[in-house]
Amino acid sequence: MKTKKIGSKYFIRIDRGEEIVESLKNFCKENGIKLGTVYGIGATSKAVVGFFEAETKKYHSKEFSGGHEIAPLAGNITTMNGETYLHLHINLCDAEQRSYGGHLNSAVVGATFEGFVDVMDGEIERELSEDIGLNLLKI
Ligand code: FE
Repeated sequence: MKTKKIGSKYFIRIDRGEEIVESLKNFCKENGIKLGTVYGIGATSKAVVGFFEAETKKYHSKEFSGGHEIAPLAGNITTMNGETYLHLHINLCDAEQRSYGGHLNSAVVGATFEGFVDVMDGEIERELSEDIGLNLLKI
């Protein structure tokens, strides 16, 4: 992973074989980033994408192996119990330009990943909503 800071923003390059979610989480921890937005494009060789079923409050996940374009990845950076918390969604396109998307659990970079993190001042915590079954923004 390579990064370049410009003002309060970072350009990020994640290389082939590296896992995106872990890489971004480590990057946030190392740089003390607790609030911001994430955006990115690139390609995966493997990805695990979830779908939250509101009725059962459970995630169903599916693995996408083989090359897919990331078109795009978007999400936010907040905290839960003071720890960095990433919430990322992804849209993946196959060779026929069919699109699949959902909640991003993990993704291994295929060719490259070009990310953009916009850092904000302050912190926004999350807390579990028993009613919804998700860690909601405490705002
Ligand atoms: Fe989600």
